[in-house]
Amino acid sequence: MIGDRDVIVIRDERMLAHKPDAAEHFQPGRMDRRVREILTGLGFQWDYPEHPGRLSAITDLLDENPIAGVRYEPGRVATMEELNRVHTRSYLKDIFKLRGQNAWLDMDTTAVSPGSIEAAEVAAGSAIAAVEAVVSGRARSAFSLSRPPGHHAEPVRARGFCLFNNVAVAAAHAQEILGCERVLIIDWDAHHGNGTQDIFLASDSVMFFDTHRAAPFYPGSGTLEEVGAGLGEGYTINVPLPGDTGDLGMLKAFEEILVPAANWFKPDLILVSAGFDPHRLDLCLNLTYDGFRNMTRLIQDLADTHCDGRLAMVLEGGYNLECLALGVQAVLETLAGADVPPLSEPGYEEIEEAARFHLSAFSEEPD
Ligand SMILES: [Zn+2]
Repeated sequence: MIGDRDVIVIRDERMLAHKPDAAEHFQPGRMDRRVREILTGLGFQWDYPEHPGRLSAITDLLDENPIAGVRYEPGRVATMEELNRVHTRSYLKDIFKLRGQNAWLDMDTTAVSPGSIEAAEVAAGSAIAAVEAVVSGRARSAFSLSRPPGHHAEPVRARGFCLFNNVAVAAAHAQEILGCERVLIIDWDAHHGNGTQDIFLASDSVMFFDTHRAAPFYPGSGTLEEVGAGLGEGYTINVPLPGDTGDLGMLKAFEEILVPAANWFKPDLILVSAGFDPHRLDLCLNLTYDGFRNMTRLIQDLADTHCDGRLAMVLEGGYNLECLALGVQAVLETLAGADVPPLSEPGYEEIEEAARFHLSAFSEEPD
């Protein structure tokens, strides 16, 4: 039941300071002109989708509905050394120069505002804090409410609203400082985690499992054939999916691909890039809250089997505020020990009830 297991949630208001405002002037001017052309062509008023309201929607719901077993801790700033484990020094220097400014970082509309650099440092530091919480044994599981998100950020490049690859920074810290040897990263965000894949492509000590909506959906990578390279060949597992994939399909991917992969790899720490854009209201895939509950329980069981329960989740995408907040709540309740309802095809239960109601009318037997 809820409260049987303890969960630490990392929340930190410094991450609210990342708020690119499309009405402001951005540098560099050449990119500003090109991005403005794209935005004008959309034919509607474009607002930066990855905004602070995402975090406050989650924290407001959690404050109004406390979950037994869940407690909160602040995040911290990731250091240059910690970020440098997965990003090049030259990339980091370029990003740090943008402190206090509005700038476009990529043509896909990734941008920073004056408070963004510290917010991104805290987003990555909070992912580290989540890992430290579970490796130290202070909680079985932890969830970092990180933003900006991270899984599109590559070693040398910001992309897809991501500046620093938070989950990768946390995995590298777990290996470098906390003594973890084999880290499994599960990315269930609807978009492919191209940055995380890139960072650990040739590693045989980090396994990367990613379910996502198939290309040409953003960012377009994550084909079956992308299985890692060099020493890491076989340690990258992509499961590209059609956009109407629902709970049963996603759970099938977890049960039939993730479980045998994890049992073979035997991780000593599991991290999750937890995006909520696979929810059906976010229009990327077709999951429900019960789908997220079942995915969480399956991963929790893997963590119990291999990692003494050590499981840390890091927030990625999710842009419909209602299903973002309710999705995080469903996952936290599950981490805290809630019972998980069995999945069925939507409507099946009602149809079975309707069948029981109607079938007697077609019986030959007199009443
Ligand atoms: Zn996403």
